[in-house]
Amino acid sequence: MAELGYDYDLFVIGSGSGGVRAARIAAQAGAKVAIAEEYRVGGTCVIRGCVPKKFMVYASDYGRKLKEAQDYGWQVESSGFDFPKFMSNMHAEVDRLSGIYLRNLANAGVDVFEERAEMQDAHTIVLKDSGKTFSVDKILIATGGTPWRPTPEDLPGVEHTITSNEVFHIEELPKHIVIAGGGYIACEFAHIFAGLGVDTCLVYRGDTVLNGFDWDVRTSVHEGLKEAGVRVITSAVLDEVTTLEGEDHPYCVHLSNDTKIKSDVVLMAVGRRPATAGLGCDKAGVELDEKGAVIVDDMSRTNVPNVFAVGDVTDRIQLTPVAIREGHAFADTVFGGEEHSFDHDNVASAVFTQPEVGTVGMTEAEARKAFGEVDIYKTRFRPMQTALLEHGERVMIKLVVKADDERVVGVHIVSPDAAEMIQMLGIAVKMGVTKSQFDATCAVHPTIAEEIVTLRHKWVPETEPA
Ligand code: NDP
Repeated sequence: MAELGYDYDLFVIGSGSGGVRAARIAAQAGAKVAIAEEYRVGGTCVIRGCVPKKFMVYASDYGRKLKEAQDYGWQVESSGFDFPKFMSNMHAEVDRLSGIYLRNLANAGVDVFEERAEMQDAHTIVLKDSGKTFSVDKILIATGGTPWRPTPEDLPGVEHTITSNEVFHIEELPKHIVIAGGGYIACEFAHIFAGLGVDTCLVYRGDTVLNGFDWDVRTSVHEGLKEAGVRVITSAVLDEVTTLEGEDHPYCVHLSNDTKIKSDVVLMAVGRRPATAGLGCDKAGVELDEKGAVIVDDMSRTNVPNVFAVGDVTDRIQLTPVAIREGHAFADTVFGGEEHSFDHDNVASAVFTQPEVGTVGMTEAEARKAFGEVDIYKTRFRPMQTALLEHGERVMIKLVVKADDERVVGVHIVSPDAAEMIQMLGIAVKMGVTKSQFDATCAVHPTIAEEIVTLRHKWVPETEPA
């Protein structure tokens, strides 16, 4: 029974990473909790994001490994990639994980409603299919984000394109794909499809992909895309997508630079928006920013005292582990009697390009702006494993060090296993590690990561940066 005469102490809208964690912890602390989900329990990460994407990265990487194995002497005979088999195995695993999320919620005593929920006011939730309404003490908005696409006025033929929601449901491996965008999703899928043998073209409006990342990461990934066989077209956007009759490829993509590209699939990866449309934030009095994100303080409180929000819908850092921590901190604070907030500084993250990007802390440009003088240590090299290969990617490792106290304020890596490396380095950076402590750490040989502790010479730019 909920306290204060409400049906529920907490109603969570959205069963992604942040919502599920918050619901579970609040219920374990004794609250009467319900959660509603309009699509599938697990949210973007489990159902149509991190998890299936990583399986696609593995699938794509196996193709390359098969080729590389031949340079190592293996006689490899491949009869090709069984895409339907892979997709079916991948979805079986996604279903299994979604089931685990459901079971964990049930075991914690959370009521799960598998339908859309909206706010009628700050204390009333209505379920859209069944029409049920509930009076609730507290509401947590954890609805995440949705892929954004231009309107048909801005991009005629946009209805022929897909987003990262649909990409996990294509039935046949296309022969040709055009990907619009130069962010996380665009770069990851460009490598995935190129690795699966798809003729892949990436169209980016800027000049170097991964805007916002350290410049050396951006240039390494940009070159890496090309080396992986991706046709990269910069300073261009999609102007129109038309259909082609009686040709091999069903679509023609018209670009702003007058290029036309025939394609089987057109993937729009041009950003995501907070999922607040029609949620009833106006009825509950919850303030949104100009992008539609719920405005919260560092305790995930909105301007309405009993309404909270965590995860991508707040547009702080759009990452699964961040949403989980925000949801956990909310539940501990509001229901567990343990007040704390999540610290958004020095969150390590990865981009699953091939090779991967691992990054934590400030970019060189951010550090120069914040501290003035910084020391840079960096190296690019071909890792040992590629020595016997006909083609092999290069690795980039870079440390950004605050000059006056030698604190390492940024680490940026483009390398196989960079995601694994940056998870460990994130601990050290979060603890305030200094460059001399890196120097005092003995190398593990022969590894790629040993370069992180053997960078002895400050990088001196050939010309001063503008
Ligand atoms: P991003 O913000 O990373 O990238 C969006 C891309 O679309 C940018 O290159 C941007 O260009 C471009 N773009 C934006 N608007 C337009 C437009 N009108 N016309 C043409 N191009 C446009 O978004 P994603 O959708 O790739 O990813 C969303 C978020 O999801 C990421 O920020 C990340 O936090 C999270 N994510 C994390 C992953 C991970 O942890 N590995 C994987 C996937 C997603 P410009 O650079 O010029 O702004």
